[in-house]
Amino acid sequence: MEKKRVLITGAAGFLGSHLCDRFIKEGYYVIGMDNLITGDLQNIEHLFALEHFEFFHHDVSKFVYVPGKLDYILHFASPASPIDYLKIPIQTLKVGSLGTHNLLGLARNKGARMIIASTSEVYGDPSVNPQPEEYWGNVNPVGPRGVYDEAKRFQEAMTMAYHTFHGVETRIVRIFNTYGPRMRLNDGRVLPAFIGQALRGEDLTVFGDGSQTRSFCYVDDLIEGIYRLLLSDYALPVNIGNPDEITIKQFGEEIIKLTGTNQKLVLRDLPVDDPKQRRPDITKAREILGWEPKVNRAEGLKITYEYFKSLPKEALFNKEH
Ligand code: NAD
Ligand code: UDP
Repeated sequence: MEKKRVLITGAAGFLGSHLCDRFIKEGYYVIGMDNLITGDLQNIEHLFALEHFEFFHHDVSKFVYVPGKLDYILHFASPASPIDYLKIPIQTLKVGSLGTHNLLGLARNKGARMIIASTSEVYGDPSVNPQPEEYWGNVNPVGPRGVYDEAKRFQEAMTMAYHTFHGVETRIVRIFNTYGPRMRLNDGRVLPAFIGQALRGEDLTVFGDGSQTRSFCYVDDLIEGIYRLLLSDYALPVNIGNPDEITIKQFGEEIIKLTGTNQKLVLRDLPVDDPKQRRPDITKAREILGWEPKVNRAEGLKITYEYFKSLPKEALFNKEH
């Protein structure tokens, strides 16, 4: 039987590369696409020799063409960490808006089903905790994070419009903070920041007083949730994340314990509009997809720490990666 064909944008990134692995494992023909603005080909180099994998180096904010049939599109291209999207704000807005529009057009043209990577950031600095999908959010459109949050909100609106007006089959996953191997050590997100600092023998920088909360999901759990959602028949947004909420200060203490570092936590200024609390309500994922996270933080952090430790020493001091 002919393999189903799936296009994964953002394929060289953290989540995109894990998605490529999963779809290859499930027997699909995988087409990866990426412009490498925050990604790294090393994340997918093990796939290049495979006959059912191909890669296009392309910016999806420009017209996207893929030859042949397509069954699924997973649109994961976008800078994703606060320091990345603050560094490249216009590209972030473009990939969420123009990029999404291009890919929805491609999905319509090919009769493909498309899933978009939305985010808990659509809830902004939320006034309800945990956040259910029905919560409309509290986003500052002109604040520094607005370039990411509003691009993602527009992305959802555009996706629903293609679903409603053009009958394109679409899925929306709202991803909460996810971690695991292949995160970039210097992408500024809290987990690589803390582990990198511990490995370099630096103090761990807690922003604000560290009382803000996040809920961290291990990457394998997230990928499973995305896979199930794509194959489901549910077109409204679904939260995927781990509801185990922790303050950033406690998280720093866990990393100190895990790494055995002699360093301590030091307080730094809180970035503007940094959400005070974040925790997914995963009732829908449980009911519709029969999904819930399986990997607890202790296990997931151990695997991730081993990954960071296995990187060449230069990676620790390379500001680009
Ligand atoms: P990442 O930076 O590791 O990967 C993003 C990839 O997209 C990179 O390889 C980058 O080069 C590529 N890219 C960016 N702009 C592009 C463009 N215009 N054309 C082609 N490729 C482009 O980030 P990630 O953590 O893997 O995030 C992937 C997706 O998931 C993003 O859409 C992000 O918004 C979403 N998301 C991630 C998280 C998380 O915790 N990791 C949480 C919420 C949402
Ligand atoms: N954070 C921190 N120290 C760092 C990096 C981040 O205390 O070195 C904090 C950040 O202010 C936020 C939380 O950790 O409150 C999670 O930040 P991250 O950038 O990982 O994700 P997001 O804010 O997008 O959830």
